[in-house]
Amino acid sequence: MADLDATRGTGSGLPDALRAAGNAGAAGAFDDHHRPRADQVADCVHCGFCLTTCPTYVLWGEEMDSPRGRIHLIAQGLEGEPLSTSMVTHVDRCLGCMACVTACPSGVRYDQLIEDTRAQVERRHPRGARDRALRAAIFALFPYPRRLRLLRGPLWAYQRSGLQALIGRTQLLERLAPTLATLNALAPRLRGVPRPPRRVAAHGDRRAVVGMLTGCVQSAFFPDVNAATVRILAAEGCDVLIPPGQGCCGALSVHNGRRAEAERFARRLIDTFERSGMDYFVVNAAGCGSSLKEYGALLADDPAYATRAATFAAKVRDLAELLIEIGPVAERHPLPVTVAYHDACHLGHAQGIRAQPRTLLRGVPGLELREIADPEICCGSAGVWNVLNPEPAAALGDRKAAAVLATGASLLVTANPGCLMQVAAAVRRQGGEIALAHTAQVLDASIRGLGPAALTDR
Ligand code: SF4
Ligand code: SF4
Repeated sequence: MADLDATRGTGSGLPDALRAAGNAGAAGAFDDHHRPRADQVADCVHCGFCLTTCPTYVLWGEEMDSPRGRIHLIAQGLEGEPLSTSMVTHVDRCLGCMACVTACPSGVRYDQLIEDTRAQVERRHPRGARDRALRAAIFALFPYPRRLRLLRGPLWAYQRSGLQALIGRTQLLERLAPTLATLNALAPRLRGVPRPPRRVAAHGDRRAVVGMLTGCVQSAFFPDVNAATVRILAAEGCDVLIPPGQGCCGALSVHNGRRAEAERFARRLIDTFERSGMDYFVVNAAGCGSSLKEYGALLADDPAYATRAATFAAKVRDLAELLIEIGPVAERHPLPVTVAYHDACHLGHAQGIRAQPRTLLRGVPGLELREIADPEICCGSAGVWNVLNPEPAAALGDRKAAAVLATGASLLVTANPGCLMQVAAAVRRQGGEIALAHTAQVLDASIRGLGPAALTDR
């Protein structure tokens, strides 16, 4: 702990070295464009309360793969240490799950520290050729819903031919190309659902006008979740605005240090919706919601967008958050099903939304809600972290799948497409069986009076 001791405060505020480095814009790991803030680093008192909630510390037990260790590395960078490969490795291994933010009694803004650090890494650290190529492929595909939708046809044929299941069984890909094996295991079973119209009218008296994010992975691979979301909102008295071509919200980019790209996506989304007359902007993907709520900070340096971005961000609501805020009025019909609810990290840790989905699910007559052990530990999805880090992601997925299966529930419910794909793959790997659904699909099934088979026999 000698190195950690060196960054401790003296009780009078910032440690001297950090104060000097942070305020003077010293050289070292970081340049002056949004360098990690020394005062936020100094808020960490090294108590270690965050360690047991950190998935990488749980996996490896290494101090530098814990929140406290990463904050220490950032402090060293601010004091003049260069951006070494080792430092980048520990930063890259962070899932950005924000469990440490929930756990920290000192209010350390690790979320902001890691976001600023990642942006520095992406700008200043030369990556190896393989890593560069993989990241280029990921970011040329995932934030583009139209490109993802082009994959539906080939993926459908691949699944129907039985090849996906066969390749999964042989485990050959795991040995030869773990990244491809992960993509193969994650690919969800496709369902054909018509695209939603541009505007859907509220049933009965209108209570709100709501813009809706259709998302990238959500719109390409989970169109049934979007369709359920639209039906719920309309049933609850909302006019729903769904302009086509709205593009990506930028979540994937900002969580991976690609700040300029995220800013471009954010401006486009604001342009698309800001004159629509919406009261709220609703999101059904946890990772997207947490980024959208930070648009004010993301575009704070842009005089043309700073105020508009803050206004937009103030309207953003997760679906469950909005339904509780306006108060559910649509009748719920009985749905006798046992549900294990999984807190997506970017809903629970990043947005503090845990009670609302549970309240909504408990409001469904006949539904029994069961809790999953160690709910604060990430399932290993974390945006594209599972693609970039296939082996540890599988280990975290297996851990989560075992906890889910131990509940004995027949349906796993969560509010993020990445978690659904990650846990589904891990459950299959363990030879277990559980149906999966988004919160929206459960509420939709209850409002429409469908039986549990609509969720469990898909
Ligand atoms: S964000 Fe998650 S993985 Fe990263 S340091 Fe915090 S708890 Fe660990
Ligand atoms: S819980 Fe907070 S103050 Fe304690 S070590 Fe972790 S980040 Fe630092």
